[in-house]
Amino acid sequence: MGSESSMQPLGPGSSGPAVSDVQAALRSLGLLEPGGAGAGASVGPEVYDQATELAVRHFQQVRGLSVDGRVGEETYRALSEARWSLGDRLLHHDPERPVRGDDVTSLQERLLELGYDAGRADGIFGRETEDGLRAFQRDYGLAADGTCGPATLRALRQLGRKVTGGRPQLLRQSASLVDSGPHLIGRRIVVDPGHGGTDPGFTAGETTEADLVLDLARRIEGRLAAAGATVYLTRGRDQDPTPEQRTAFANDARADLFISLHMDAHGSEHARGVASYYYGTGSGTSSTVGERFADLARREVVARTGMLDLGGHPKTWDLLRWTRMPAVRLDCGYLSHPVDRLLLLDARLRGTVASAVLAAVQRLFLPADADPPTGTFVLPQRV
Ligand SMILES: [Zn+2]
Repeated sequence: MGSESSMQPLGPGSSGPAVSDVQAALRSLGLLEPGGAGAGASVGPEVYDQATELAVRHFQQVRGLSVDGRVGEETYRALSEARWSLGDRLLHHDPERPVRGDDVTSLQERLLELGYDAGRADGIFGRETEDGLRAFQRDYGLAADGTCGPATLRALRQLGRKVTGGRPQLLRQSASLVDSGPHLIGRRIVVDPGHGGTDPGFTAGETTEADLVLDLARRIEGRLAAAGATVYLTRGRDQDPTPEQRTAFANDARADLFISLHMDAHGSEHARGVASYYYGTGSGTSSTVGERFADLARREVVARTGMLDLGGHPKTWDLLRWTRMPAVRLDCGYLSHPVDRLLLLDARLRGTVASAVLAAVQRLFLPADADPPTGTFVLPQRV
């Protein structure tokens, strides 16, 4: 699964000031009773009790995070961001330390509703948010300083919620993909094999998830390159980049598409199948292109391998959130399941999965009316 983290995660049994921070955040969000868990700060260290764990699970569920009831880096950051609501502070673009928080998400959603391109509503005040905000300020006769202060807030509030049903930025995203035609020449695609270096991921006997997804990534790279695309891998065999480095790499490469590869394992040997993940909060904000590619890739793999279809799911994982292009994570089966494992250890099957991913990429970049049925499409080789 995901590659975290340098922070020691907090969970049942943890105690101390970090736990009481978490509890304060949960209380301010109304997820934890004021008099309940962790009350009575004067009586020694705060303890991560059952009520805290439940509140954390609830929070993770609504935010589209992995639900494990523990507070690692990602959940901790999401908790601190959730404390801000629009109007609590001035918002502006700081390239050194980008402002993050739910207030930024509200601003972005508001601008998008009004038809301004503020980038993805990801809660990070970036260059696109600033551009969108300046355009809004110009149109409404405000000082176009790119800072969201009291005057801008007033204007945003006065406008009310007039626009409904539109998701302009998502529509724009789809349009620009279709415009650029059916072939893969000129497409830049980043393939991200999970783990690596000292992080093996899950293991299957002598083989590791890290090695298997790297092999798969190289097969995908070969096929995409043969079809005309420019392909970059985020790592070699001996590196284990952080999520930040992986996403920065893709952003710097100005990729059109980001594909992250993992395999799963589970305590129950019955767990098996293929799942895909795209950026989305579950509350309506998501990447339509990401969702479509997550669907295409998973269905192509399932159609060609006979593995179980576990569906596509919106997540706010850092890897999906920090990438500025449509980003998808594909979990290609369970190393803990006897049949999945046999398949994944077979090089031919990994070749089949790579072909499935190529077909999904081709279908993504084809206009809808030229879209052939799943499992059949092969682009003629370029000469
Ligand atoms: Zn993994």
